[in-house]
Amino acid sequence: MNNSFSIELRRFILIIVLALIAGFWLDRLLLCSLIGLSLYTAWSFYNIYIISRWFPVIDSSPPPESLGFWGVLCDEFYRYQHNNESEKNKLRADVAYLRDSFASLHDAVIMVDRLGLIEWCNDAALPMLGLSLDKDFGQTLTHLLREPGFIQFFDSGDYEESIKVHSLHKPNTVLRIQITTFGQGNRLIFARDITEIARLEDMRRDFVSNVSHELRTPLTVITGYIDNFQMLTDQLPQLQNPLHQMAQQAGRMEQLIKDLLDLSKLETKPNEMHRTPVNIAELSQVVLEEARARCQADGMSRTLDLDIEQPLSIFGQETELHSALSNLVVNACKYTQNDGEIKIRVGVNEEGGYFSVSDNGLGIDPSDIPRLTERFYRVDNSRSLDTGGTGLGLAIVKRVLLRHDSTLEVSSVLGRGSEFICQFPLHRLVTS
Ligand code: ADP
Repeated sequence: MNNSFSIELRRFILIIVLALIAGFWLDRLLLCSLIGLSLYTAWSFYNIYIISRWFPVIDSSPPPESLGFWGVLCDEFYRYQHNNESEKNKLRADVAYLRDSFASLHDAVIMVDRLGLIEWCNDAALPMLGLSLDKDFGQTLTHLLREPGFIQFFDSGDYEESIKVHSLHKPNTVLRIQITTFGQGNRLIFARDITEIARLEDMRRDFVSNVSHELRTPLTVITGYIDNFQMLTDQLPQLQNPLHQMAQQAGRMEQLIKDLLDLSKLETKPNEMHRTPVNIAELSQVVLEEARARCQADGMSRTLDLDIEQPLSIFGQETELHSALSNLVVNACKYTQNDGEIKIRVGVNEEGGYFSVSDNGLGIDPSDIPRLTERFYRVDNSRSLDTGGTGLGLAIVKRVLLRHDSTLEVSSVLGRGSEFICQFPLHRLVTS
């Protein structure tokens, strides 16, 4: 392009120089210059005329034959336009392909702009969410999907986790909704019908809860007999050891049933925002005394310290919090060797309030940490069986914290010790 421009410039200078020579030769300098300039201008206008006729049909006809700079300009423009068109076609094909693949999904997909107006949805969204192809495009999504849980989630802007909602459009239908953002605040909403999975999950929960209930009565009878027989071991000393083991295993079963029932209650009870202040500093003192008594009773020598860095009270459910904090302190005692040191800290930080339990015990391998709060997950089976663990303690802690909008953070070094931190959010703090 630059090259053709300099050729054009040279052409112009040549015409002017020739005109000037002719002007000198004929002694008509001004006239010859004017003729030279006029010829060049006329030729340029002719090219502009040809190009202007070509512009309206640029898509369908090749560039006109033009000389010099004008010809190069047309060719460049034609190439640019041609590339642009191919890019556009490729993009159109990509969008069509994406829409086709979204359309074929069984899950509902809705695209909304940054104002929350519906831009597009796939076929599955129509029956699942009660949308209508003709009426609803360009409408505000939250005016059509009126489930309170969904509206709160949609407006929150925090889409890290998906949510489960009961459909208002189709009663008895449970949906899992996930939102992702793209472009400039546009959102993609995925909804999946999980009614069947939710029903099976409810059945599983009911089954575990019913079985645990049913096991309680026979177990009470068995432990009653074991207690009675243990009183008779003076006459039958050979039964002392087996009866002691039976009592121990019956105790474990009792603990297992209690933990299963606790977990089942935590899973089924509605998660309301408790307005009762719970003094975490005082509760920590209670938990500490209980753990000391338990260590003493079980013959474990542990040093337990409590450091209230700042007073802390949160809005919550005291019994649930008691169970969670106690589980963490008891674990620290269980998974620490004799003369181990356990430190409890309570205080406030920029994220809210915290309750931390650290120990210098066995520690946990980093690969085990993400799975600790799964039901029945044990780092090392022999470790837990030695200590009489049920594998449900941390699952209960996680559930309780979830119900208090709080999180459990775990850090640990194998062989050196662990720290478990309950982080309570700012909106739960009692500030007065
Ligand atoms: P369990 O009843 O078996 O203790 P938990 O759910 O309370 O079950 O804990 C799960 C596993 O996490 C335990 O089996 C144990 O291996 C590990 N664990 C929990 N707390 C600690 C701790 N403070 N130090 C080392 N390991 C721990």
